[in-house]
Amino acid sequence: MVTSFQIPAYFTAIFIITRLMSMIKISSKPFDVHHKDIKALDIGDKLSVEPSAIGAASLDFGHIVKAVPLAVLHPSTPQDIAALIKLGYYSSVPLGIAAKGHGHSLRGQAMANNGVVVDMKSMKKNRNGTGIRVSSDGLYADVGGEQLWIDVLNKTLEHGLTPVSWTDYLYLTVGGTLSNAGISGQTFRYGPQISNVLEMDVITGKADFMTCSPKKNSELFYAVLGGLGQFGIITRARIPLQPAPIRVKWVRVLYSDFSAFTRDQELLISRNGREDKNALDYLEGSLLMDQGSPDNWRSSFFPHSDHPKIISLITKHRIIYCLEVVKHYDDQTKNTVDKEMKMILQGLSYMPGFMFQKDVGYGEFLNRVRAGELKLESQGLWEVPHPWLNLFIPKSQISDFNNGVFRGIVLERNITTGPVLVYPMNRQKWDDRMSAVTPDEEIFYAVGFLHSSGFNDWKLLKIKTWK
Ligand SMILES: Cc1cc2nc3c(=O)[nH]c(=O)nc-3n(C[C@H](O)[C@H](O)[C@H](O)COP(=O)(O)OP(=O)(O)OC[C@H]3O[C@@H](n4cnc5c(N)ncnc54)[C@H](O)[C@@H]3O)c2cc1C
Repeated sequence: MVTSFQIPAYFTAIFIITRLMSMIKISSKPFDVHHKDIKALDIGDKLSVEPSAIGAASLDFGHIVKAVPLAVLHPSTPQDIAALIKLGYYSSVPLGIAAKGHGHSLRGQAMANNGVVVDMKSMKKNRNGTGIRVSSDGLYADVGGEQLWIDVLNKTLEHGLTPVSWTDYLYLTVGGTLSNAGISGQTFRYGPQISNVLEMDVITGKADFMTCSPKKNSELFYAVLGGLGQFGIITRARIPLQPAPIRVKWVRVLYSDFSAFTRDQELLISRNGREDKNALDYLEGSLLMDQGSPDNWRSSFFPHSDHPKIISLITKHRIIYCLEVVKHYDDQTKNTVDKEMKMILQGLSYMPGFMFQKDVGYGEFLNRVRAGELKLESQGLWEVPHPWLNLFIPKSQISDFNNGVFRGIVLERNITTGPVLVYPMNRQKWDDRMSAVTPDEEIFYAVGFLHSSGFNDWKLLKIKTWK
């Protein structure tokens, strides 16, 4: 049936369609529509069945799930993506299509078993450097869904501006994090990244191009935010900007008592007004356990000379809780920032003598995880299975979680090797209309177990941890 079409110029398209048809038994009428669309939009040469492209689209950062697509689309324009979606929409049997940003999902969220993966980063080539545009009034940036946050940071800093809400790691795409939530130490104050979007261009499941915002096509807008790519493909997001600080004061303090640790975290995030001078700009927390060094791949923070005293503290208490905070400053505030930080930390219950601080550039702070990635990569330890687990725990349960999981499982079973994050955020900074789901309490905690494993033992780690 396919060979009866006389379109030799679209050989690749025919080849793909042949494969798709054999898999999904497209009826003749809808197939006519697909054929016309493909012919009109010429995506045939952008569909790849090369083993290298299929192989890359079958894996992600998790290295746990494998799903093999029929083909990979390397789009140059949003129209290419729409042509593919039309093909899927009019087929009699649904065709799975998944947008893939930087592929840093953990469990195949950007895969399409027997479907087509849209390799969003191909769009970058065609943007000719126009993928990130800062508005003339400096209030926002229009950013392609395929752009990496590190590039958004660098571009906006050129204008002395910055987005306000981040993830800990910046080599993730705008479309990828807006399809999840995008959380970090700024979330308590500014909300997740999905609370910091003014407008988006989306290609819907019917291949319509829609601009959406809280006022325009708002149902689509909120569905797409945190929607795991199930409500449309983001091709542009308008991100609000504010003046960028120049440097940051970065402080870590240590606790042996979990309730003192969470009480202080919750006190600090209660000061969360956007204009509040007493508010921190970033707050996270983590566990320190017996891993040989108080630093881990995500950060090397503590002065080497202080390692012995921190290690002996860990040996004594088995788990130490580390509160991490940041205050930004610029030329106007450089003379007052130390005093402000002192005031903010006054009255907290951390252990005397266990306060550590650094002073680094704003960009260096935001890009802090990159150095660890490059180090692991050079050791061949980055492309390994990541049986990570990220959870939201309501405030009312966090103490039980500490006793039952941190102490009862992680410590008792000696699973102390990976970074474990624990930090609170305010639900008022989220929006219930968005697809992302949060616990039903005003304060809830993000807990992240960020373990790496070998290719043969990730299941063991999972069972060891959670069974
Ligand atoms: C080292 C590391 C650190 C991380 N740190 C954080 C952190 O601090 N905070 C945090 O919130 N997350 C963090 N993450 C998780 C990360 O935010 C998500 O995995 C995110 O989805 C990755 O972005 P990506 O571009 O790789 O997306 P992908 O994995 O490619 O895609 C993720 C999902 O988004 C969809 N998608 C991708 N692009 C689009 C688009 N343009 N339109 C619509 N849907 C799309 C995909 O179909 C998929 O469902 C981290 C991940 C890693 C690997």
